[in-house]
Amino acid sequence: MNRVILPGATIGVLGSGQLGRMMAIAARRMGYRVHTFSPGEETPTGQVADLEISADYEDLDAIRAFAKGVDVVTFEFENVSTEAAAAAAEFVPVRPSGSALHITQQRAREKAFLADRGFPTTPCVAVWTVDELAVALGWIGVPAIIKTAAFGYDGKGQHRVTSIEDGERVWSMVGHQDVVVERVVEFTHELSVIGARGLGGDFAHFGAIENEHRKQILDLSVAPARVPEGIAAEAVHITRAIMEELDYIGVLCVEFFLTTDGRLLVNEIAPRPHNSGHFTFDACVTSQFEQQVRAVCGLPLGSTLQLRPAAMVNLLGDLWVNGEPDWQAALSFPDVKLHLYGKTEARLGRKMGHLTALGDTVEDARERALAARDLLAP
Ligand code: AMP
Repeated sequence: MNRVILPGATIGVLGSGQLGRMMAIAARRMGYRVHTFSPGEETPTGQVADLEISADYEDLDAIRAFAKGVDVVTFEFENVSTEAAAAAAEFVPVRPSGSALHITQQRAREKAFLADRGFPTTPCVAVWTVDELAVALGWIGVPAIIKTAAFGYDGKGQHRVTSIEDGERVWSMVGHQDVVVERVVEFTHELSVIGARGLGGDFAHFGAIENEHRKQILDLSVAPARVPEGIAAEAVHITRAIMEELDYIGVLCVEFFLTTDGRLLVNEIAPRPHNSGHFTFDACVTSQFEQQVRAVCGLPLGSTLQLRPAAMVNLLGDLWVNGEPDWQAALSFPDVKLHLYGKTEARLGRKMGHLTALGDTVEDARERALAARDLLAP
């Protein structure tokens, strides 16, 4: 179904977090209506959508009813079942497709997809039994990282192990579910590329973005990444090739490690806008969220030109430990932009918002973003 969905039509979003919220803001600016579907109520997306439907993703009748009320369905997170995507596709185009979602929502499947097509990935083994785990750890070596195969994000379900016994302990702890055992990669940089692919196969990207993680959660991104041009170009090339292999429509993020010996390895794929691309809202002609709207609606993709060097820092719930952060202090930097996601409960590690700083250089932007965040909870 190669139908173009024009402004005035309704975009259905499965999921209701901050990614959906920012996409809904971009969509509404362009005159689209937005409906969101998730089990939650008063959600970050629901607060800015025209309609918030609260039902379970497993409730296929509710998914069908939702799909009947919209013109296209997209996702703001990948943990929606293939059955749910297929139920929606009975009525309207689902972009990206359920099959792209199926591959990228489970680590073992995603890694096999990449390896089978010759993309460079972190050495890893998929494991289904405790005996296989011991063999895998023997082959991969320790320290290694055990990651649960399904539905992991932000380092959730990740465990670093230093011995086979340690691995067995983790195995009992994670409840004997499928896991992937990965070699610990020595890297100089973590990078990501956010690509967009339209209905006709047209492609756009925001260049390489440089990411810093804290406790396995993204903490800071700067763009453009401070890596040689050839590396950035190769990361973009790999991203485009992955999107073509997936016959992907929409926005997708590929996360990479740049190893100490100068190789790019794909860490994972997110089939949606990504935290590392939040800076595009303030720093680029077209944000990743508008790009997602354009791509899934079959419109021409927008310019990804970046107007100024930018840095983005996440605001986690941890900042609320001693009460409401000092917004006025952070906003005393005139070109720092505050984004809050409308979440009422500030839990440790929960993404509540972010700050974007623009600067003359990446270093300048990075420094200002960090300084503004420091003022939030002195
Ligand atoms: P993930 O959920 O796989 O994106 O992992 C979250 C973060 O954990 C990554 O961005 C890295 O900082 C770290 N990490 C994950 N896998 C590895 C690995 N194989 N080697 C080293 N660090 C890793």
